[in-house]
Amino acid sequence: MFWDHAIETLDRASLRQLQLKRLQATVRRVARKVSFYREQFSQARLRPSHIGALADVRRLPFTTSADLRANYPTGLLAVGLEDTLRLHTSSGTTGKPKALFFSRQDVANAAELCARCLVMTGVTRRDVFQNMMTYGLFTGALVTHYGAEKVGCLVIPAGPGNSERQLLLMQDFRTTVFHITPSYALYFADFLEKRGINARRELALRKAFVGAEPHTEETRGKIEQALGIEVYNSYGLSEMNGPGVAFECEHKQGMHVWEDNFLVEIIDPQTGEPLPDGEMGELVMTTLRREAMPLLRYRTRDITSVNPEPCACGRTHRRLNRITGRSDDMLIVRGVNIYPQQIERVLMGTPGIGRNYVIQLEGLDEMIIKVELAEAGFDGQVEHLVRLQTKIAERLRAEILVKPQVELVPPATLPVSEGKAKRVIDNRKL
Ligand SMILES: [Zn+2]
Repeated sequence: MFWDHAIETLDRASLRQLQLKRLQATVRRVARKVSFYREQFSQARLRPSHIGALADVRRLPFTTSADLRANYPTGLLAVGLEDTLRLHTSSGTTGKPKALFFSRQDVANAAELCARCLVMTGVTRRDVFQNMMTYGLFTGALVTHYGAEKVGCLVIPAGPGNSERQLLLMQDFRTTVFHITPSYALYFADFLEKRGINARRELALRKAFVGAEPHTEETRGKIEQALGIEVYNSYGLSEMNGPGVAFECEHKQGMHVWEDNFLVEIIDPQTGEPLPDGEMGELVMTTLRREAMPLLRYRTRDITSVNPEPCACGRTHRRLNRITGRSDDMLIVRGVNIYPQQIERVLMGTPGIGRNYVIQLEGLDEMIIKVELAEAGFDGQVEHLVRLQTKIAERLRAEILVKPQVELVPPATLPVSEGKAKRVIDNRKL
């Protein structure tokens, strides 16, 4: 099913032509309207007329998270404040937030992209959409909310948490589709199990969209199994409208990124040099249609690769592979670069292991991984526990090249979160 068949299946040559036209228009606009970019261009002796082909995007400066903070609150606006319609912010770990403005066209366009995403997975106006993401300054819930309304779903703005009420809404209004973070989805599946609710038999759930946190194929499998639903991976970031940037189609083999709206590059995060399709690196995006706050070559810090192969669904927009981590989240332990997700992949792929874990860094460079056993994971035999512990430590060493200390703990003893999970505790004194 398609929301906009013509644009979603536009042939590659026409799509690239459209991208070039929109890139040139964006560069001309920011050169005129945004002093930050005007100064960057003048330092690099760059004129908008120098962008004659898509490959010339490499001549443009990168925009970073730090640039957004330095120009907070309105320094990167390309329209007058009277032409803005909505403000979102994106918080970081330090200092000021990033302010992200939407014009009327941006709000409508973000909803349009979300509508494409939802319909791509088979959502129709007959669906009941329970939005379990955080409403408010964060883009996660509101942008998808507008997209689902555009499709014509009944939208329930539930927000996250309060699992009792979530369940009641699902029962009373026969929710078919929900939008959730992977960590809350796992928590919610546990909650239903404890309540003795059989989701397959007693609820009408068919699909879930998970995003806002990196997660693994194993996590997807666990959510699908526990709830008897199809889970689709979604990718977005507030700097690029929020959700709806890229989404999986029915084939679930990578996320189609809407290339008529975003120009995608993968770069080496160390050198900034572009990498060819298929190679892992940092995702860099240029907005092609944003009116209020166009961004050139925004460094997302997300690590992924591009899959250029044609997709069986017929869409011509290339696919992003699963995000495997953030260059910011990268831990350096004993000189080795480690993404927390590599650890999660090993844990979730080990039978007998539950869903909750914490990575603790102590002392000079000690890594301790505390992980819950599954409910049926302990048969009372201590030697079985020791064997499991050793197996996990060995598998982790093969994956991350560092051998951590593994501690198995009883089910439901680690702290749980209903929002974004905090998996890493760094107490090192380095
Ligand atoms: Zn597809």
